[in-house]
Amino acid sequence: MPRTADSLPSLRELLTTAVEAVGGAERPGQVTMAEAVHKSIKTGEHLAVQAGTGTGKSLAYLVPAVHHAIESGRTVVVSTATIALQRQLVDRDLPRLAKALKPSIGREPTFAILKGRRNYLCLHRLDTGAPEEPDDGALFDPFAVSALGRHVKRLFEWSSETETGDRDELVPGVTDQAWRQVSVSAKECLGKDKCPFGTDCFAELARAEAGRADIVVTNHALLAIDALQGYQVLPEHDVVIIDEAHELVDRVTSVATAELTAGMVSAAVKRCGRQIAEDIVDRLEEAGEGIREIFGDLPQGRLDELPRPLEGVLRVTRDAAHACITALGPDRSSQDVESTTLRRQAIALLEEIHDTAVRVLEAFDTDDAQRRDVVWLSSDMIGGNPRPPALRVAPLGVAGLLRERLFGECTTVLTSATLTLGGSFDALARQWGLPVEQRPSQKAEGTATDITPPADNDMPRWSGIDVGSPFTHEKSGILYVARHLPPPGRDGLQPAFFDELEGLVNAAGGRTLGLFSSMRAARQAADELRERLDHPILCQGEDSTSLLVSKFAEDEATCLFGTLSLWQGVDVPGPSLQLVVVDRIPFPRPDDPLASARQRAVEARGGNGFLTVAATHAALLLAQGAGRLLRSNDDKGVVAILDSRLATARYGGFLRASLPPFWTTYDQSVVRGALARLNS
Ligand code: SF4
Repeated sequence: MPRTADSLPSLRELLTTAVEAVGGAERPGQVTMAEAVHKSIKTGEHLAVQAGTGTGKSLAYLVPAVHHAIESGRTVVVSTATIALQRQLVDRDLPRLAKALKPSIGREPTFAILKGRRNYLCLHRLDTGAPEEPDDGALFDPFAVSALGRHVKRLFEWSSETETGDRDELVPGVTDQAWRQVSVSAKECLGKDKCPFGTDCFAELARAEAGRADIVVTNHALLAIDALQGYQVLPEHDVVIIDEAHELVDRVTSVATAELTAGMVSAAVKRCGRQIAEDIVDRLEEAGEGIREIFGDLPQGRLDELPRPLEGVLRVTRDAAHACITALGPDRSSQDVESTTLRRQAIALLEEIHDTAVRVLEAFDTDDAQRRDVVWLSSDMIGGNPRPPALRVAPLGVAGLLRERLFGECTTVLTSATLTLGGSFDALARQWGLPVEQRPSQKAEGTATDITPPADNDMPRWSGIDVGSPFTHEKSGILYVARHLPPPGRDGLQPAFFDELEGLVNAAGGRTLGLFSSMRAARQAADELRERLDHPILCQGEDSTSLLVSKFAEDEATCLFGTLSLWQGVDVPGPSLQLVVVDRIPFPRPDDPLASARQRAVEARGGNGFLTVAATHAALLLAQGAGRLLRSNDDKGVVAILDSRLATARYGGFLRASLPPFWTTYDQSVVRGALARLNS
């Protein structure tokens, strides 16, 4: 039952109760953030909040969220990018908060976690077995085949133990291919009423629980499906809180990306089986052969024009898939469960093939400047071998979608430790589709940035606030830029780089997190430093990342080198991490189809494509990487950027302004001395 605002304790009282219950002290940034979130919910004006590590930001949004849910009787959705944060919210923060607030609000606030249907074990599929899977090349690998068998066996055993059927609770995990054998997409699902397992279905139980909860925790992908793709999967809500909001655009883009492979068409042919006339299925099979041949002949990379042979084969595929869908016909109530299952499995894949072919054909219908989608052909690597090529299509931007379907529908709070780049919210606000005022951002008292948005009735209204960080970056951290090094080249790491790295790691006594722009560079550096130093060097890929991070945290002399997931996922407070080394500014690769197309599109509109796309991408990652250094109040150390362009290039100022306000030096002896003193 909703409670009136008068009968509810104030937000401030609830926050104090919550902070006391978790044994914390009141932090000014946390109070500022909680009040800003509360105001945003009350006024309906969207909010972006940058809150540094140690602010206690989850309580700062959960308390106003609970306040709103209790007062309005409506669900508040909280979305995260990572499983780690989802776990922290559901296993730690929300249970403690619910208990703490119960006496004040008269009942225990309820919460639930909800993911996409594919994340839950499907009891029906487990019972009937998986249909023909698209062959992604892994089936030619005997090791992959035996691993698949082992994983599926484990999944069967786990199915009788699990209470949630939630894939993330399966430790250790299984491959995507194995998981697909026991899960279904929303389109393949028979529906609760038709499915013989409907009443016990894990996905349905999770949905029902979410529908009754005050707070529903989900991920950005499901949020995107709910908001953008027109499937209502989340309970009715009027407020969304997006944590790890710096990941939102990438996650939404992934949901909106489609692919087409010859393997998908072959699998669809087999799924159609004897359900429809042979000559109709033969047409699809021929289309698949055409795809295999043409994808193999075309050069990989972004497609700015649609080659005629590809256009032809896409038209044939589209029409053949459509003919199969028509022949399969609609669901019939007279059909038994087995027939309905087979039909749904075939239709789901046929629709994916048909819709992707249509989307690629339409992507080239307009002239260059008007294009909304980017198309490219690429082969992923699996176990060092290339998979068969896939044609992919992704949106050039998601700003319009977010503006209309997310900001246009509910009050949205976006938060992260990294939302301001170059000292302003503008770069990310543009990507989200929020209006950006064309004036320099203003510094708020004691904080980095505070923007008041323009009052434009047609555009979503929003405000941005940086509540700062409890850490004193300029006293606890040094930013060292190795200005004397030659700029990084294309041919791997250079000898001068290794000398510099060796000197720093030695001075730090190990304790180094090496963040590299590629796995090749991380391995090269690990090999070289193992030759030169006695400190244990761990390299990503040599074991599971979580195990490597645990080893790194346990032994202070150990170093850990790796790439992308370490930039954002390492949380090691204390003396094991005193030096973060970055090998080069993490610009997107020049052949990255999406980034290069986005850059071109900005330039076509007269903007600076490099700054808007590549430098923004690099700034976000650099800020995330530098954020690994200070994780608790007592932490001290150095972020060393071994790419001289940060000091010498024109864009260097923008990138440096995106980093935490460390004390900056270019002096090698100063930084080595500081590292040595930390260990003395
Ligand atoms: S309702 Fe759907 S997801 Fe649930 S068991 Fe049945 S087919 Fe699987």
